[in-house]
Amino acid sequence: RGDSRAADRTVDSVCPYCGVGCQLTYHIKDDPEHGERILFVEGRDGPSNQGRLCVKGRFGFDYPNHPARLTRPLIRRPGVPKGLDPDFDPRAPLTHFREASWEEALDLAAGGLAALKSAHGPDALAGFGSAKCSNEEAWLFQKLVRVGFGSNHVDHCTRLCHASSVAALMECIGSGAVTASFMQALQADVVILTGCNPAINHPVAATYFKQAARNGTKLIILDPRGQALDAYAHRSVRFTPGGDVSLYNAMLHVIVDEGLFDQAYIDAHTEGFEALKAHVRELTPEAMSPACGVAPEQIRELARLYATADKAMIFWGMGISQHVHGTDNARCLISLALACGQTGRPGTGLHPLRGQNNVQGASDAGMIPMVLPDYQPVTDAQVRAAFEELWNAPLNPTPGLTVVEIMDAIAAGTVKGMYILGENPAMSDPDLNHARKAMAKLEHLVVQDLFVTETAQFADVILPASAWPEKDGTVTNTNRQVQLGRAAVPLPGEAKPDWWIIQQIAVRLGLDWDYQHPREVFAEMTQGMASLDHISWERLERESSVTYPCPANDAPGADVVFSEAFPTESGRARFTPTRPLPPDEPVDGDFPTVLITGRQLEHWHTGSMTRRSRVLDDLEPEPVASLAPAELVRLRLTPGEHITITTRRGAITLKVRVDPLMREGMVFVPFCYGEAAANLLTNPALDPVGKIPEFKYAACRLERVVAA
Ligand code: SF4
Repeated sequence: RGDSRAADRTVDSVCPYCGVGCQLTYHIKDDPEHGERILFVEGRDGPSNQGRLCVKGRFGFDYPNHPARLTRPLIRRPGVPKGLDPDFDPRAPLTHFREASWEEALDLAAGGLAALKSAHGPDALAGFGSAKCSNEEAWLFQKLVRVGFGSNHVDHCTRLCHASSVAALMECIGSGAVTASFMQALQADVVILTGCNPAINHPVAATYFKQAARNGTKLIILDPRGQALDAYAHRSVRFTPGGDVSLYNAMLHVIVDEGLFDQAYIDAHTEGFEALKAHVRELTPEAMSPACGVAPEQIRELARLYATADKAMIFWGMGISQHVHGTDNARCLISLALACGQTGRPGTGLHPLRGQNNVQGASDAGMIPMVLPDYQPVTDAQVRAAFEELWNAPLNPTPGLTVVEIMDAIAAGTVKGMYILGENPAMSDPDLNHARKAMAKLEHLVVQDLFVTETAQFADVILPASAWPEKDGTVTNTNRQVQLGRAAVPLPGEAKPDWWIIQQIAVRLGLDWDYQHPREVFAEMTQGMASLDHISWERLERESSVTYPCPANDAPGADVVFSEAFPTESGRARFTPTRPLPPDEPVDGDFPTVLITGRQLEHWHTGSMTRRSRVLDDLEPEPVASLAPAELVRLRLTPGEHITITTRRGAITLKVRVDPLMREGMVFVPFCYGEAAANLLTNPALDPVGKIPEFKYAACRLERVVAA
């Protein structure tokens, strides 16, 4: 905690990192020498954090002041080839780009996009937004792609995190958001945490799980890796990587076989249970145990614990979604909840823990290629007609391409121009050699960001954007809480608000946009999104946070939803049976180890912000691979030595760290380090429904690096 006497003023806002959405207060010094700066941050009494913050929220606030911050537009120098500059030094004078005026940069940015559209048609253009955008920026960005470009090729990193969860939720219960907040865990008798590691990825949510466990809630943790919350768990079961669908189907078998299902709930609220019953008949614990590595008796115990609880919740993360069977994983979890009547009451529910601070809101706002805002299909003529009236423009009826499909389309030469706002696909996409090769082929790339990221190194034009503490805007967290962030410090140099930059591109593409402030964009959103009914900018200024759906202007939003009916055509939820499938790339003699990628507590996503935050970067300054102690013995390594990890797509060399929570046969690598980019190794194979890559399983080989 800083010295509050040294601060000149305070501004209330929200943490810019994870989907927990902790409310915080910036303490600001008006320093004549250094300008206005955030001195320190304190947690506020928000509904999802009650004053708490994790290390990122508390210390990750100084990245906007990093010396490499972009403060003027940049234009690629003629003749400089596109691609990663191996000698790139963000602190050195830029050699590949020159500074430009806003007028010149915007004309070039929009002119290049317009020329490609006119020569090759709307589908030659695509846009990647970011889950770090505010709701208003996300709305404007997808509107620009749909109305200005004329295509639906707009996506963002939800495709890389919970697209498969959303696909399963939409299919089974008619809604892509959580059915209950994580605070409801405090009222549950049993909580399953699977494919997630909240102490690392949702640290303040983890404090609620700890609190629940201390109060008597039975925590059941199902994951291939161990984790800090194991210390609070009633049962912690480490299953074989890729064995999740087998495990959940076996649990469903037990629930059916032992009559543990809730027939009254099933009759009143669901359809398709008889088909599910017949489907899981053969999927006994004995039959599924070899694939999931969990003993039949333990599977039975887990099923009984969940099914016989009065109130139970299931939370999951990307260990569930980032598989070629990610949608099937989520379908299984939904079936468990429906079979046991575990939704619609306090202390029950389904909760995919959303990753980035605004991945829920950016998805709600329509930054998804196949749906308009509020998940309304672009293929539905009635839906399109409503938005055509709102936006006074015709809309393309063909669903757009997703993140990895856009990269493939660039490689194939059909997508030729892109506008990328705050996203870093040159670090976050799977099989980076392929993705980077594709990006170098783009005829015109506009990147809007805070720094010259790996992606910006491929750009023709780089537009200096606004950091979260510099902007007004709303974000929606994992609990469906729409929250207001307020500008705390001024923009540096000539950097501009993101909504302003999007609008300038739109105007140059011939659109008559004239928004003066994000509150006007939010007002337009409320006309197209029923989910925002009874939520206004003015209300958010007063209350800071309102949960959707909200029944009235003066009523709180619904923390738990679907007590009476589901938002499907029939009002009923659907069971979708699934069949266990092997990973896309099983381990073999050449590649015998499972590579899992993910985040560290101190770093966020591709590290573009947290690696430029002094405290966070000091805590975790370099890439490391985590291995079980027995693996280090096998490889004759001591912690701190180096290994090379090789997959069919590439190789990286980095230090090893011993991690007693890892199991043998696995290695974990964070994906935020450009100098050893984990995604050079990952498998681009997609879940056929959610189109999400299999980041949580790639076959690899580990080799000790012998010092010369
Ligand atoms: Fe920020 Fe998430 Fe940490 Fe809260 S838990 S302070 S939202 S990173």
